[in-house]
Amino acid sequence: MSTVSGVNPDQLLHGLTPAQRAAVTATTSPLCILAGAGSGKTSVLTRRIAWRAATGDLDPRHVLSLTFTRKAAGELSQRLRALGLRDSVAAGTFHSVAYAQLRSRWDDRGITPPTLMDRKFAFVMRVLSAFPRTVSEIPAIDFIAEIEWAKARMIEPAQYPEAAERAGRRPPTASSIVAEVYARYESQRREQRLVDFDDLLRVCRRDLLADPEFAAAQRWRFQHLFVDEFQDVNPLQQALLEAWRGDRLDLCVVGDPNQAIYSWNGAEPDLLRRFPERFPSAQVLRLTENFRSSPQILGVSNALLSTGGSAVDRGGLLRATRPEGPVPVVVAHASDRAEAAGIARSVRDHHGPGARWSAQAVLVRTNAQIPLIEEALTAARIPFRVRGSAPLLDQPEIKAALAQLRASTGPLADALDDLAHSIDEAEVAGDRAAERQANVDALVQLGRDYLAVEAGPTVAGFLAWLASTTRADQPDRHGDAVEVCTFHAAKGLEWPVVHVAGLEVGLSPIVHARTEAAQEEELRLFYVAVTRAERELICSWAQQRRYGSREMSRDRSPYLDIVGDACAALAAGRSPEAVGQGEVLPASAPPTRRSRGGTGRSGAGRSSSGRATPARASVDTTDLDEAALALLEALRGWRLTRARAASTPAFVICNDRTLIEIASRRPTTTEQLRTVHGLGEVKVARFGAELLAIVNGVTAD
Ligand code: ATP
Ligand code: MG
Repeated sequence: MSTVSGVNPDQLLHGLTPAQRAAVTATTSPLCILAGAGSGKTSVLTRRIAWRAATGDLDPRHVLSLTFTRKAAGELSQRLRALGLRDSVAAGTFHSVAYAQLRSRWDDRGITPPTLMDRKFAFVMRVLSAFPRTVSEIPAIDFIAEIEWAKARMIEPAQYPEAAERAGRRPPTASSIVAEVYARYESQRREQRLVDFDDLLRVCRRDLLADPEFAAAQRWRFQHLFVDEFQDVNPLQQALLEAWRGDRLDLCVVGDPNQAIYSWNGAEPDLLRRFPERFPSAQVLRLTENFRSSPQILGVSNALLSTGGSAVDRGGLLRATRPEGPVPVVVAHASDRAEAAGIARSVRDHHGPGARWSAQAVLVRTNAQIPLIEEALTAARIPFRVRGSAPLLDQPEIKAALAQLRASTGPLADALDDLAHSIDEAEVAGDRAAERQANVDALVQLGRDYLAVEAGPTVAGFLAWLASTTRADQPDRHGDAVEVCTFHAAKGLEWPVVHVAGLEVGLSPIVHARTEAAQEEELRLFYVAVTRAERELICSWAQQRRYGSREMSRDRSPYLDIVGDACAALAAGRSPEAVGQGEVLPASAPPTRRSRGGTGRSGAGRSSSGRATPARASVDTTDLDEAALALLEALRGWRLTRARAASTPAFVICNDRTLIEIASRRPTTTEQLRTVHGLGEVKVARFGAELLAIVNGVTAD
């Protein structure tokens, strides 16, 4: 067999399952790989590039692989290098690739580049200052969220009110006013020849469509397109992807609808779901095994999917392949400070001899939770790194390195090599030495990524590219450290030990998730957090949390009911597979398998948003008599009130199957309640009294 890249193709298939192998070697294009967390999607994507290169089916210099964050792009090129491909595959974010292409176009055509808006907040504040106080006093960030959402979906200011209404947005003020702010933002931006990050995508696409020569050059350069995390692509990115693609079909996308976590920011998970409709010739492959998590962790994450209504795709349930591990735990703390200290202790407890700190991560829903965790880890003398903080470009050694780059006269590649060695010789002492080295390494790595995407690399081009790519997600320093990051920033990553913190109503689900769609996204976000764990998962919450000078008492997240019941069932000996299917009774209690009519039509319900929900086990109401139907009505009313109070979709409180079983069996004791499908110890302790009161009340009537 040909070994164009110098790699033996057979070696690339080593260790893959038949399904993964089929995905790596499939000859059909377009190709869509649809599979759950940890099933090997990213692994398959990189192997597919390497395989096609090794068999002579593509030239890696003509590959463009797109991912969601800089960090992910860096990891992708790292994995490709590990598979034997040298720095020749372009891996980047939509933004970084668009910007590199625009810069080369501007250079070639002698166009003075527009200025990249780097202070959007201040800019919006100035726009707002021309509005009456009732508007200008609304936080700028709320307008920015709406403007970014609209731009991600290619919605013009005039279309905003209708589009916002249709999408169930909750703008900070009348949508006509948001539209006006958006219009002025755009006109002032144009007057000042500024472009924001979304404009980079828009302008790149516009120029590809309007300038055939530019389009031909880019399409020649990137002939094979690969996209990871396709569930989070927004319509603007999709349009740009189409412009890159032209009329060619060499496209491979991978994604997981259950991990769609950017819809609120304009992403469109339907682009993944509808991929086969869009490309009738496309092949859709599914992977069904999980290679990341212990069966116990997978039991819990599958239980989250089993409970989900229209928020999730039950096709995502995965089989375990990893060795058994400890049952995940849920820990309650008296206060946020106690929680942070408890996490620091737990991190230390999990740090066995010879273990790396980087085997652990602390995940939180909001950036605001991070400082307390940082403080506790610092106090415990545990090294940590916060993804996205401590901007790399602000570090003194990076400033010096950039000055050195600016002064260099040779090719960028040589200058980068010089940099890679320079720090060894510099006079650095103490702990900072390794850190500085790691920072410079990160810069050099960025330089190599830039070289891979840029056709005509220059030092000036690299510096400009840096400014655009190191905005929100800086590459990390590489020293051994515990990682602290938000659920969003954790996507695609994995750690042996994961601590998920702050699981309270208001944080997870987040306080502003008011629409059903937003609440469903919160559940998926929690699912993303949980599925990062390989061996151990520790979920925690605090009964009190300080906001400014006020101590607020907190309710634990309803998601913890699902996790808690799953954990209790696992601890009681029920198998992880059964728990993953939503069987959360202890193994000793026989699960109730009461037949209630045909299941053929019973599963497909409709959510209030009108979408069909995936088929679930028996939720038929045809067996219920009138009294039972009245009871079911009452139970559903109770569930709605509970769900509203917790800002969560109703199914998280109790799914329909559970309520129907209660209505039909009318349990009158806690013991009987415990045998209802979907009610474990945790839910019975929490809701038992209320449920029994409803049953008794309705029965007594
Ligand atoms: P996510 O949805 O979270 O992005 P993913 O589907 O992209 O996950 P990967 O990150 O590619 O999954 O793989 C998860 C883990 O499983 C990685 O550690 C990967 O190396 C490992 N893995 C994938 N396939 C196999 C396999 N066939 N044998 C052993 N390990 C595997
Ligand atoms: Mg992945």
